[in-house]
Amino acid sequence: MTSRPEILFPLHRSLTTLEGIGPSIEKKMKGLLIDKPVDLLFTLPISFIKRKLVETVFMCPSGQYVIVEVSILKHQPGRTKQSAYKVIVQDKEVSFNLLFFHARKDYLNKILPIGEKRIISGKLELFDGFQQIVHPDYIIQMSEKAQIKSFQAIYPLTAGITQKIMRRSLNSVFQLLPDLEEWIDPSLKESRSWPGWNLALKLVHDPTSHEAFETSFPARERLSYDELYAHQLTLAIARLNNKKAGRPTLGTGDLEASVLTELGFDLTKSQKSSIEDIKQDLAKPFRMNRLLQGDVGSGKTVVAFVSLLVAIEAGGQGVLMAPTEILVQQHVENLRPLGDKVGVVVESLTGRDKGKEREKKLKALRDGNIHILIGTHAVFQSGVNFLDLRLAIIDEQHRFGVRQRLALGEKGQNVDVLVMTATPIPRSLALSQYGEMDLTVLREKPAGRKPVKTVIVSDNRVHEIAAKLKEVISRNIQAYWVCPLIEESELLDYTAAEERFKALRTDLGEGLVGLVHGQMSSEEKDDVMKKFSHGQIKVLVSTTVIEVGVDVPRASIIVIERAEKFGLAQLHQLRGRVGRGSSESSCILLYKAPLSENGEKRLSILRETEDGFKIAEIDLQMRGAGDMIGTAQSGLPRFRIADIYNQEKLLNIAHKYARVLLEKDPTLRSTKEGNASRKLLWLMGQEQAFRLLSVG
Ligand code: ADP
Ligand code: MG
Repeated sequence: MTSRPEILFPLHRSLTTLEGIGPSIEKKMKGLLIDKPVDLLFTLPISFIKRKLVETVFMCPSGQYVIVEVSILKHQPGRTKQSAYKVIVQDKEVSFNLLFFHARKDYLNKILPIGEKRIISGKLELFDGFQQIVHPDYIIQMSEKAQIKSFQAIYPLTAGITQKIMRRSLNSVFQLLPDLEEWIDPSLKESRSWPGWNLALKLVHDPTSHEAFETSFPARERLSYDELYAHQLTLAIARLNNKKAGRPTLGTGDLEASVLTELGFDLTKSQKSSIEDIKQDLAKPFRMNRLLQGDVGSGKTVVAFVSLLVAIEAGGQGVLMAPTEILVQQHVENLRPLGDKVGVVVESLTGRDKGKEREKKLKALRDGNIHILIGTHAVFQSGVNFLDLRLAIIDEQHRFGVRQRLALGEKGQNVDVLVMTATPIPRSLALSQYGEMDLTVLREKPAGRKPVKTVIVSDNRVHEIAAKLKEVISRNIQAYWVCPLIEESELLDYTAAEERFKALRTDLGEGLVGLVHGQMSSEEKDDVMKKFSHGQIKVLVSTTVIEVGVDVPRASIIVIERAEKFGLAQLHQLRGRVGRGSSESSCILLYKAPLSENGEKRLSILRETEDGFKIAEIDLQMRGAGDMIGTAQSGLPRFRIADIYNQEKLLNIAHKYARVLLEKDPTLRSTKEGNASRKLLWLMGQEQAFRLLSVG
């Protein structure tokens, strides 16, 4: 078994092993995604302050960080607990105030004794015509002046974490920094003038000029490279692993032929050729590892189903994993009737299956009496065993990470894997996400689809829209009403959705309006979704839980409130809920005025095109670096340091070197560089790759 190299232990212990971090700070650090000392190292400063040494604050602009020598004149405790404690000090020319909130009197008396001199540093402010510094960063004796940095890094913060805490914690981590062998190819390192790892960290965390904040700053660039390289190495290992084992799965074509006649439509050319790609993969003695990328509504589900039939024709079983229970139910509802007609048993498994019911399903699965299992990630829990699993398909894979993808490969032996995604990723970036997979793209949409008419409307016309809805639902047309993302909290989303639900229910009539949101139990959600897909509920109010995959062809209107708050990719996904049937569809993007110029530009793109690939390209171009929300929505891996939008070249270099290394040293044990890279993977938390190295 492989385990973490001892040299890295200190960086992977609990945060509380660092000086000055207790359980409470440890917990707050999670807000910055910092769990272990190593995470601190990769949380780089985002800006800096410059401190100016002055003789007097007189005429100094407010906002300026100053270092100034003062005499302490007077202490003036606040009248109430809430009001500030003032200390009046005097520099060479003028007197000004130092302010403290929640101050401890004896402590302040000790550090600022009346009549003595101290060096103060902090941010100068103007309040009521008086100059002041609130909570100075430094209050020190004259002899300690060298402690004050005139150039200082500023870290991202979260509630309860201050710059001081960040700096102190980082200081402690730096004490633990191990000396690691270099994993970067020497000639590459030299040609880019990159420093070693330890020095790079130092230069970035302890910057001396603004250049240290540029992406091209060698130390920063090196750290970005490390991150990209570790990621690419993981993908390359997965790829190597996949190429190894496998067994041929050859269908007879019988089930497929019968099902196709039951569909009621002809497959598109794209669907046919995708199925061909997949069949060829299945027939090979290698493990399939293919990504099926198709814009929303391009008809991926049928492709998945036919592929599963091939596995069944060959005497095996298949599994289809979807990210939400709503999607699982939908797939079951659509596919089970088709299965019934040809004697294929389709069953679902989610977290809701418990006790006897679950046991019964698991037994049927082991005995081979279930042919296709459809479920959430519950299908990969331990205890879920197949008689002969041949094909695993993941739907809407952007909701799952590389980690889950790798776990999947380990489940059944030699299982062929197909992942499906509706996230159109520009080719340049596909490398970062899917470097280890083969790619099939569904380019064409089923014939007869009418374009979705997209309009952009101010939300002060919301009543008009509601009135319009009342009229259309009387003609048996259904609609989605998506409520905005308020903050990042499901709870608040839910409140907004609930209010809209109540209002629409009053306007349109009891029983015709339904509500789904993430806080509801899965039973409740299912119930509402069923009523909606069967047409009892005409208007479905929801949070973004309907974003992926929901397919109710009769719904042809979607209203999205506060559209300006959503990412373009997400709006595109949401809009993809309509335009699935043959009737005219529309998408109403409601915005809260005033719409920013950028906001207007973004929304207009949706009005202009329905091409997901095009939208994705523009989205990425318009998006600034480090847009975390956007990144999360796009389904791309999150990098802490690297900026894949602007460091595509670096990504390509990492890709190349990762493959070269693995060719030379497939076990990462026989070369110096291989061993060093192995440590890098541990360092970067990419150790899931080792399971493949040892298992594969
Ligand atoms: P997605 O690619 O977004 O998962 P789905 O598989 O849910 O799309 O398909 C969207 C809709 O299009 C479904 O109602 C499906 O039955 C229908 N559909 C799929 N393929 C075709 C086709 N070739 N012709 C007509 N309709 C199709
Ligand atoms: Mg789908």
